[in-house]
Amino acid sequence: MDAKGRLEGKVAIVTASTQGIGFAIAQRLGLEGAAVVVSSRKQKNVDEAVEMLRSKGIEAMGVVCHVSNPQHRKDLIEKTVQKYGHIDIVVSNAAANPTVENILDTKEPVLDKLWEINVKSSILILQDASSYLRKGSSIILISSIAGYLPQASMAMYGVTKTALFGLTKALAAEMSPDTRVNCIAPGFVPTHFADFLTKNAAIRKTIEDQTLLKRLGTTEDMASAAAFLASDDSSYITGETLVVAGGMPSRL
Ligand code: NAP
Repeated sequence: MDAKGRLEGKVAIVTASTQGIGFAIAQRLGLEGAAVVVSSRKQKNVDEAVEMLRSKGIEAMGVVCHVSNPQHRKDLIEKTVQKYGHIDIVVSNAAANPTVENILDTKEPVLDKLWEINVKSSILILQDASSYLRKGSSIILISSIAGYLPQASMAMYGVTKTALFGLTKALAAEMSPDTRVNCIAPGFVPTHFADFLTKNAAIRKTIEDQTLLKRLGTTEDMASAAAFLASDDSSYITGETLVVAGGMPSRL
């Protein structure tokens, strides 16, 4: 089969997709033939991302969507359906990591924000999208290697990412057999989100040494995994988490 056209005729929504991993996923899905809907909090970022995708010949539209805003989520789904008629792929990629505090020192509003953006928004977007999903659709939740072993500097963030592993299993059962639900657990990728780790030479080296492949991940590494899970090439895979972390310790 021609991998280039794997997603021809499919419609994909990717949240938090105007830069970093989300943008790379949107671009890859688009290059493989999907119509892609990009979104993030800032109109300027959305406009620039759409322009960049269209300049590569990708069918794309953009909608401002702060994932914890109910009206924004509704707009994202409704505008997608108005333009393209249905949805085949949803990649839930937004996350916040607002604190380096210990869990027991983290204030309640921060705990709420972590739960709301990293877990609850994925559920609510899928509630809005579910009636428009076609048979054979694919949902992808973006978790993290930190979900397996929440480290001190990102402990509560890690716990929200652990929750996505459970959510993946539960939704895969609930949405079967017409929709598959899978998860990606990225290792460390030098994006704005991970600047505080990857721009520090010593920390970067420590992370690289923890991988078997002796390097950080790239946004393209994550995008190719997402394209596989979005496509019919993974048609017998559901409820699974794909660890894309260069062999960092995760689980058996
Ligand atoms: P990034 O490069 O910093 O990009 C973040 C994107 O999210 C931007 O497009 C930003 O645009 C948008 N955004 C931020 N908050 C949002 C919100 N509340 N609602 C909607 N959009 C929002 O981040 P990234 O590294 O690609 O991270 C993407 C995902 O990968 C996250 O789930 C993260 O936990 C996961 N991850 C990353 C790494 C890593 O090492 N980078 C490792 C494991 C997992 P606006 O500013 O316009 O909103």
